[in-house]
Amino acid sequence: MTGARIRQLDYVTQTKGVYLDNYDPDGTRHGGLPTYPYRWAPPGLLTVRQLRAKQLRPGGQDIAAQIIWRRGRRVAYLYREDLAKPKRTATPAQLAAIDKALRARRICSTCRTEKPYYIARSLGECNDCHDQWRFTCS
Ligand SMILES: [Zn+2]
Repeated sequence: MTGARIRQLDYVTQTKGVYLDNYDPDGTRHGGLPTYPYRWAPPGLLTVRQLRAKQLRPGGQDIAAQIIWRRGRRVAYLYREDLAKPKRTATPAQLAAIDKALRARRICSTCRTEKPYYIARSLGECNDCHDQWRFTCS
């Protein structure tokens, strides 16, 4: 796989003798995957996050390239924007199911009241019920 070349990076590596390990558009040093330094991705390639911001998702396409930073400790995969698909939006039924599930997590199993917060799974009941239990037992 061969990725687009970045003119400014070609300039510094080819004429200034600068070695950029993370600039590897042919992927020769990175298992064939075109690789770019952080913030130097060619136009048209986006991370999943950037796609999501544009209401898009990779949609089953292969990873087109990667960006590497922090001395190779951070990697983000890039996808082609032109192959991305629109992000799926939930149907009213799905939204209702999500709402119900979230509501269930706010209902205390001891006093059955719906709380404005999620019941901590470790407590299994709302803070009021839990406090009551603690005060009577300590
Ligand atoms: Zn309660």
